[in-house]
Amino acid sequence: SLMFHQNNNPAAPAACFSSATSTALGGGSRLEGKVALITGAASGIGKASAREFIQQGAHVIIADSDKEIGSQTATELGARANFVHCDVTEESQVAEAVDFAVARHGKLDIMYNNAGIVGPSFPPSIADLNLDEFDRVMRVNVRGTMAGIKHAVRVMKPTHAGSILCTASITGILGGLGPHPYSVSKFTLPGIVKSVASEISQDGIRINCISPFVIPTPLVVAQMQKFYGVEREWIENMIYELGELKGAKCEDIDIARAAVFLASDEAKYISGHNLVVDGAFTCFKRLNMPRPDQVV
Ligand code: NAD
Repeated sequence: SLMFHQNNNPAAPAACFSSATSTALGGGSRLEGKVALITGAASGIGKASAREFIQQGAHVIIADSDKEIGSQTATELGARANFVHCDVTEESQVAEAVDFAVARHGKLDIMYNNAGIVGPSFPPSIADLNLDEFDRVMRVNVRGTMAGIKHAVRVMKPTHAGSILCTASITGILGGLGPHPYSVSKFTLPGIVKSVASEISQDGIRINCISPFVIPTPLVVAQMQKFYGVEREWIENMIYELGELKGAKCEDIDIARAAVFLASDEAKYISGHNLVVDGAFTCFKRLNMPRPDQVV
C-alpha cells in the first residue's frame, strides 16, 4: 500500500510544513552589478533562480528553447531580465546567447547551465532502452552543459574571473531514483565540474554544481500526472512526503538560494564542489529492522 498521506488529515506529516517556506529573501545586494546567463530559465528551478538573482542585484539573460514561456518569464521578471532563444543542443545558439550577454552588459560573471530534460519517464527495463532517446537526453543534459561551459569560459578567461554553475541531481548520486538515461546524464555532471576545474582554476574561474532533491516543478508534475493520472496537488504532496527532512519541503527557492551563494563572492574559494540540496536524502538508507519490542 502507499505510505503517502493525503493532505486532508491535519495530523498528516504534510501539515507540519512551515507555511513560510516559499517566501523570497527579499531585496539584497549579494549579486549587485553581476551579469548572469541561465539556461532553461523559462520555468522551474531556472526561473526561480533568475528571480532570486535579480532580487540580489543581477542582470539576467534567460536562455531557453521555449520562446513563448521564455519571453513571458522575462516580461514577468522585469527590466533586469532579457530573453534569448537558445536550444542548448545547438552550439551556435549557445555561443550567440553568451555573446548577447557580453554585447548588452559588457561581461558575463555567472553562467548557470540548468536546462535539462528527463526523457522517457519509466522505462520498464534497461533491456528495452531506446538508444535514440538516450542520445537525446545526453545531448541536452551533457552536451548542452559542455557547450555552455565552453562558451562561458571563452568570454570569462580574459577577465580572470567568473562563476559557472550546473544543475546536477540526486539521480546522479544514487541509482534507482530516475530513468537510466536521465540518471546517467546527471552522474556525469560532478565529473564535468572536476574535469573542467582542473583547467579553469588557473584562469580564476570557479565551477560548481548543485544536486537538488525532487521538486514539483512543471516538468516533474506533468510527467508524473501522465503516469498516475491524478491531480497536481496529489503529485505535489506525494513528492513532499518523499523527503527525509521533516518540517520542511524542498522547493525551487531552495535551489535558487544555493545558486545565489555559489554565484556570489561569498563563495570565492568554493570550486569543484557538488552542493547537494536534498535534506540528507542521499546520506543514508533506512534499515528495515524490527525494534526489540516488536520481536515475538
Ligand atoms: P522545467 O521543465 O520546469 O524547466 C526546464 C527548462 O529547460 C524549461 O523551460 C525548458 O524549456 C528548458 N529546456 C529544455 N530543453 C532545452 C534545451 N534543449 N535548450 C534550452 N532550454 C531547454 O524543469 P526543472 O525541474 O526546473 O529542471 C531544471 C533543471 O533541474 C534540469 O536540469 C533538471 O534535470 C534539474 N533537476 C530537477 C529536479 C526536479 O525535481 N525538478 C531535481 C533535480 C534536478
